[in-house]
Order: sequence, then C-alpha cells, then structure tokens
Amino acid sequence: MKKSKETINNTINNTISNTSNECEKENREIIVRDHAKDFLLDILPKDRGILKELRDYGEEHHVPIVEEEVAALIKVLTRTSGAKNVLEIGTAIGYSGCIFLEAMGEGGKLTTIERNEEMLRLAGENFRKAGRENSVRILPGDALEILHYLKGDYDLIFLDGAKGHYREMLDLTISLLKPGGLLISDNILFKGMVTGEHPVKRRKRTIVNRMRDYLKYICDHPLLDTSIIPIGDGVALSYRKNEVEQKGLSERIEKKEDSE
Ligand code: SAM
Repeated sequence: MKKSKETINNTINNTISNTSNECEKENREIIVRDHAKDFLLDILPKDRGILKELRDYGEEHHVPIVEEEVAALIKVLTRTSGAKNVLEIGTAIGYSGCIFLEAMGEGGKLTTIERNEEMLRLAGENFRKAGRENSVRILPGDALEILHYLKGDYDLIFLDGAKGHYREMLDLTISLLKPGGLLISDNILFKGMVTGEHPVKRRKRTIVNRMRDYLKYICDHPLLDTSIIPIGDGVALSYRKNEVEQKGLSERIEKKEDSE
C-alpha cells in the first residue's frame, strides 16, 4: 500500500519516540526504501491488456507473481540480451511467461515448468488469450524431477519456483544454460529476512538459510558472474561464462608474468 509523505513522516516520528537508537536507524531505512519503491512504481509504465488482467487476478487471488519493478527489469534484460529461448521454473498464471514472450517477440520460445494443477490450467488459458500458445511449452510436474531429463540450450533461465530448492535447481539447469546466457533468480532476499533487515520467522528459517547458502553458491560459482539487485523481493543476475572467461583475467595475467 502506498504511503503519503505525511504518513511517512508520522511513522518516522513515532518510530523515533518509541524505540532504541538502533531500531530507529533500521526502521528509518525500511521506510526510506518503501518510499523509493512507491516513487519507482509511480514512474514505471503500468501493465496494459492481458498483463494488467493477470496482475489484477494475481492481486485479487493472492497468486505471487513478479513485482512490477522486477517485471520491468526482466523485460529489459530479455530484450537487451536478445534471448529467444527461455526456460522458466514456476509458471503460476503465466504473468512472467507473458513478459518473456512479449520481450522476445515473434520467434521467441518459452519452456515453463509448474506443478500446481490449477495454475497449469490458468496459465494454459492465459497463454491462449495472449495468442502465444504456440510459442509455449508447459511442462507439468515437479521441476526437481523434470529437470533431470530436460534437454536444451537456453539463452535465459528464470528461477521462480520452490525457494528452498534453488541450489538443486541451479545444479540441474546450469548445463542447459548457453555460455553467454543469463540466469535470473527471483525472491533471493526473501522479504528482507535473508539480509537480516527483517527478523527471520521461525517457520521460514530453513528457506532463509538455504537462500543465503544459494547466494554464496552463485557468487562463488566458477561458471557464473553474479550481481544482486535489491528491488522487488531481491533479484540475482548471473552471467554464464564461456570457456575463455572461465579461465579469468587474473589467471591469464599470472601466466603472462610467469613467462616473462
Ligand atoms: N513466475 C510466476 C510469475 O511471476 O508470474 C510466479 C511463480 S510463483 C512465485 C511460484 C510457482 O512455482 C507457483 O505457482 C508454484 O506452484 C510453482 N512451484 C513451486 N515449486 C515448484 C516445483 N518444485 N516444481 C514446479 N513448480 C513449482
């Protein structure tokens, strides 16, 4: 929900009078970030047509779809990377799938995996409504099983399925991502709990610990260059290196120095 300037100031004032110095600082940071988010959401172009329909449906029926600022990011990344073959894990109602299809344009292909039957039905309907059913292959079932036999050479992989299983999913998909391709992982800051910005709820501890482990894993992965962007619920962008890039500049410099 949007906050007016007055509400924001009141919240800051109340916070200051009621909490210790440390809490004051934390709460101010959260509020300032919410304010920045409101500003961004005001300025970004709004969804139209089928995308608006799907966003409204998602909000009304509590289906978690990518946040608006993340949708804008993946659209730009898909277009600039020139991706034409996308693999998505976690279709839901097909909102992000439609973003990929729109950004790839004619000739773009989406393979998307979903295990929930109702979501599968809705996504099928929505891709038809968008007139792109022939550009989509929906794979029904658990991604952790399907990925074992999936073949392909994808330009872009979008991880947006079970949050506690990203690491296993990455291990199963990395060979499907082309060198030079892009891996986008959504929800990696998991409601501010991963960075400690918000307290970790007891029942979310496992997911949060696994997500921290996943972030470290993709940051240290020899095949990936990773950047973490704190918009929406947190997005990680990982570039899949080719063989030359894997060797790394530092290694090449070391070799050159040895030979001199
Ligand atoms: N990408 C969608 C969008 O932004 O429009 C939202 C996806 S929603 C956050 C996550 C979806 O992943 C849910 O519909 C859930 O049923 C599905 N999911 C979770 N774990 C899965 C798994 N292991 N295999 C397949 N689908 C899974």
